[in-house]
Amino acid sequence: MILTFKIKHNRDFSSELGKARKIAEFVLTHKTRSSKDVKQFNLKSAIANQILRKYGNNETIKNVNKVKLTVPSQSVNANKENRTIYIPCLKFSVTYDFRNDYEKINQIELDNEYAYVSVNINEAPQIVPQTWIGVDRNTTGHIAVVGNPDTGKIMKLGKEALHIHKKYKNIRRKMQREGKYGVVKRIRDRESRIIKNINHNVSKAIIETAKKNNAGIKLEKLEGIRKNRKHTRNFNYSLHSWSFYQLQTFIEYKAKLCGIPLTYVEPKNTSKDCSRCGSEGIRDAKKFVCQSCGHVDHADANASFNISQRPPIGEGRSQLNTDRDVFKGSTDTPQGATL
Ligand SMILES: [Zn+2]
Repeated sequence: MILTFKIKHNRDFSSELGKARKIAEFVLTHKTRSSKDVKQFNLKSAIANQILRKYGNNETIKNVNKVKLTVPSQSVNANKENRTIYIPCLKFSVTYDFRNDYEKINQIELDNEYAYVSVNINEAPQIVPQTWIGVDRNTTGHIAVVGNPDTGKIMKLGKEALHIHKKYKNIRRKMQREGKYGVVKRIRDRESRIIKNINHNVSKAIIETAKKNNAGIKLEKLEGIRKNRKHTRNFNYSLHSWSFYQLQTFIEYKAKLCGIPLTYVEPKNTSKDCSRCGSEGIRDAKKFVCQSCGHVDHADANASFNISQRPPIGEGRSQLNTDRDVFKGSTDTPQGATL
């Protein structure tokens, strides 16, 4: 599996980036694939060739947007002991603090602020789960509630996210009223970093629980969650949406790395049904009451138990529906959704 880590560096690459842009523009206009043609720009050939490959072979790229310096694997020296990466052709070295168990560095992209180091990491062989834990994701209260039906235990995670979101929303509003738009962006970025950190911790805790219990993970298949915070008028919705998506991505890749199966279930009525008897109960804010069997529970805990007990999407339906298209993209493979 390939993971990319971002490292801030203190080197000014504007000269090299300027050359890279010129090469990209030249390659696009002249439709060349020959490294001889771009020699005139005097950029290190290992890097120039990457630009040539990207822009010369791609019919769909019409404009040059952000050009980074792409350094291929063979032009990178990594020293795991000192945790340093050295790129000889740029005389550039940087230290890293990301995980050291990578197999190799695939490539490094550089802009004027960051080095984006993409590494190959071996995935653990997939475990055969003894049980499944259900993860209920929320926009109010805890962002994730994990239920293990075998032990009856629940784990509530990421309560601080909502508080942080409210706090930063108020600051943003105030700054907006005062016309300090630069500050608004900075504050939004800071909020994103904090939420990201929370999502990292929450996903880590979920993976650790799964590992400890020899369990697979079940999540609700949520539609309409977004990859990023752009293009939404309602920022409130948008935050939850990208934050949801981010948490999901983190859980997915961490599960994959650890060999933990992950699968998706139908979200319908997970918060309404009783996890004990299956009848429809009453949910009032964070309280769940079942009038049929008398079961009373924290609403998110009840939902997480429901999720843990649901069949993966696509399973048990093959006799009802033989239309193959229906199963396209379903997550009935043991791996569940992949990245
Ligand atoms: Zn019940």
